[in-house]
Amino acid sequence: MTDSIFSKIIRGEISSHKVYEDDFVIAILDIAPLSEGHTLVIPKEPAETIDQLSDDHAAAVGRVLPRIARAIMKVTGATAYNLLQNNGQDAGQVVPHVHFHIIPRFPDRNEAIEGAPDKENGPGLRVTWKPGTLTPEEALELGKHIKRLL
Ligand code: 5GP
Repeated sequence: MTDSIFSKIIRGEISSHKVYEDDFVIAILDIAPLSEGHTLVIPKEPAETIDQLSDDHAAAVGRVLPRIARAIMKVTGATAYNLLQNNGQDAGQVVPHVHFHIIPRFPDRNEAIEGAPDKENGPGLRVTWKPGTLTPEEALELGKHIKRLL
């Protein structure tokens, strides 16, 4: 099993700004925030990616995510937020221990204003999304194989 920096934080060997803890989950402020209130919600189980996470830890994360998001929204005054969850290096995951980013969004700050001079250079989350296509035949075929495993 992995012993990542998050395992060390969970065990208290490395300090963090912890905002929540229960038997299954901790939430800490991200050390390099994309926006004010950027928080990481981390199951204590040392699974690298979410497909490796036990049902109990997955359920525990799901139970507290809305509550933590509500608190962050209230404290920061964010008007929106993204939940980001990277699985594997090819998806941009750096720390190999499951974690959910809660990234508050502020349309009145430069990071979200079109044409602001530092929009491209300042901190913030920028999502680019180029949709592809899916034919009914492809959907049927793919769906059939996925359903068989669930
Ligand atoms: P990933 O790319 O793996 O989804 O994101 C890892 C996140 O963990 C990054 O946003 C990074 O800033 C954060 N991070 C890495 N090391 C530490 C640390 O020691 N303490 C805290 N609080 N956050 C960390």
